[in-house]
Amino acid sequence: MRVFQSIKGLQSFLDDIRKQNKTIGFVPTMGTLHQGHLSLVEESLKGADVTVCSIFVNPIQFNNKEDLDKYPRFIEKDTKMLEEIGCHVLFNPSVDEMYPEEVSTRYDFGELETVMEGAFRPGHFNGVAVVVKRLFDIVDPDYAYFGEKDFQQLAIIRKLVDIHKLPIKIIGCDIIREEDGLAMSSRNLRLTEAQRQHSTFIYKELMKAKSMAINGESPDVIRSSIKKDFEENTNFKLEYFEISEALTLLPIESFQGSSSARAFIAAFLGEIRLIDNIEINS
Ligand code: AMP
Repeated sequence: MRVFQSIKGLQSFLDDIRKQNKTIGFVPTMGTLHQGHLSLVEESLKGADVTVCSIFVNPIQFNNKEDLDKYPRFIEKDTKMLEEIGCHVLFNPSVDEMYPEEVSTRYDFGELETVMEGAFRPGHFNGVAVVVKRLFDIVDPDYAYFGEKDFQQLAIIRKLVDIHKLPIKIIGCDIIREEDGLAMSSRNLRLTEAQRQHSTFIYKELMKAKSMAINGESPDVIRSSIKKDFEENTNFKLEYFEISEALTLLPIESFQGSSSARAFIAAFLGEIRLIDNIEINS
């Protein structure tokens, strides 16, 4: 596997790849890799000739300084994991390499950025969009792979590609879970043993919402029931539980006429903020 910290080095390598008419698949990450990230790399290995994975903890997408400072980093282990899975290129730039100048770009993603994560993490999606656009400009991939774990982020990236009319195919990939249902996340490493056990509550509640929908309950009844469960569970502080249309991400009032509804949760378990979502058609 080739490892590049510099944009110039990466680009001259990729120029050669393109001259050979090979396609490039790209997987942007913030590192501390787990099977969720690796599943994206695997998709890229299947779909493109050359796979580039980036590891960059993007400071401008953190709306909480402590979250940024405490974000886990294990670059040596990550490098080994990528090597073992057969990833071709790792791009691991410094903050100065990515942002030589102060960033002033402001995107307007409309309602996509005002609901759920957008409402609770001001500036987050702008920071995501800026770094992804910068990475797209650097790597110039044919395909880019993102997890449905961050479903709203995936919608924002699709809109970003649309705004800039980029010739990149965005591929959304399934959420990879631990055996007990917890969605894999780099932040899970920060959970204590007891918190790790409590954490399965989130997926259980999503499954409960899904089975209520299948049993004909309305979105509002499901919302009330799940919110009540969280109120009664003192381990958690729920930020939001929402049932929304997968394309617009706007809340729905009825499952009739909705072809693809999803349930979304964000909750604090102690200091750790966890998010998850599930398809929930009745
Ligand atoms: P992150 O390193 O958290 O920025 O994530 C990098 C990419 O991996 C994003 O596209 C995430 O949606 C994706 N990802 C993170 N966790 C999972 C998971 N459990 N299953 C699938 N994809 C994931």
